[in-house]
Amino acid sequence: MTPDVSVVVPVYNEEEGLPLLFDRLYPALDALQRPYEVVFVDDGSSDRSVAELRAQFQRRPDVTRVIVLARNAGQHMAILAAFAQTRGTYVITLDADLQNPPEEIARLVAAMDAGADYVGTIRLRRQDVFWRKAASRLMNRVRERTTSIRITDQGCMLRGYHRSVIDAVNDCTEVSTYVPALAYTFARNPVEIEVAHAERTVGQSKYSLYHLIRLNFDLMTGFSVVPLQFFSMAGAGIALISLVLVVVLAVRRFIVGPEAEGLFTLFAIAFFLIGVALLGLGVVGEYVGRIYEQVRQRPRYTVAAILQQPEGGRERGAGAASRLSLPQATGAHE
Ligand code: UDP
Ligand code: MG
Repeated sequence: MTPDVSVVVPVYNEEEGLPLLFDRLYPALDALQRPYEVVFVDDGSSDRSVAELRAQFQRRPDVTRVIVLARNAGQHMAILAAFAQTRGTYVITLDADLQNPPEEIARLVAAMDAGADYVGTIRLRRQDVFWRKAASRLMNRVRERTTSIRITDQGCMLRGYHRSVIDAVNDCTEVSTYVPALAYTFARNPVEIEVAHAERTVGQSKYSLYHLIRLNFDLMTGFSVVPLQFFSMAGAGIALISLVLVVVLAVRRFIVGPEAEGLFTLFAIAFFLIGVALLGLGVVGEYVGRIYEQVRQRPRYTVAAILQQPEGGRERGAGAASRLSLPQATGAHE
């Protein structure tokens, strides 16, 4: 039986939080009273997360699947690895840290029942540290101006996607991406709802400042060439102003004579422009680097193992051939 709802949960070193997540996620999904599956994807955890996930798979093999990646591929790649395995008509992404309440899933499902093929979310009273909220506000604004992605709260990963959107995302082969934005480009009827947000109670955020900057470059470069155009436009503008300056100085030289004052002003302007030029070079580098990664065509993630019941086997208990299948073997299932 194909499930109505697939819930995708990326997990990276979340051993402390997983038991709490299981305790809330499964009752919330049981309450939906429709067939569902939870697809956990372990993103190369080095703690006991995989063991926790395996134990949960043994407790609820009928509705649980676990994909174990060989190495840390990043949250967005991990989600794509899970998308490729989902079977549900609706696919919901949820973080493992309970910052987004699993109880909200019912509202996302209701929005999709009502016809939405993309349900974005806005965190009501987001519970994160100050600098993260400020940086998010800034990045949301930059993204809003430079891309055609119209989402209010890009950082909230509790989102719902219809199968048609997921199929389109699965056809993409980009190596650096931002799942909510990528999916948005395929949505025909996107809606947004407000959801509650909680502090992270156990474990730590997996995003350092460096990782957040990288992620935002993925978003910008993946969905806009405006940063490149900005530098070509600025370059043209500066060249034009410089030309006027040259003409003014040439004329002045004939009328007033040579000038040597304002030397440090000149330095200041020159240093500023050198800074701008280096920044521009860096921006070009961000694009070139991603193009390079893309043309190398290495696999985006490596699946080490998949824990799932053989398709069709819905019986519970010891007889249910729960098995560990290697990725090559999964294609050959039944
Ligand atoms: N995550 C992941 N791979 C990574 C980093 C994070 O799968 O490389 C998962 C993590 O386990 C969590 C989700 O992505 O389920 C969001 O991470 P986190 O809560 O640390 O991010 P934040 O809420 O601080 O933005
Ligand atoms: Mg979090």
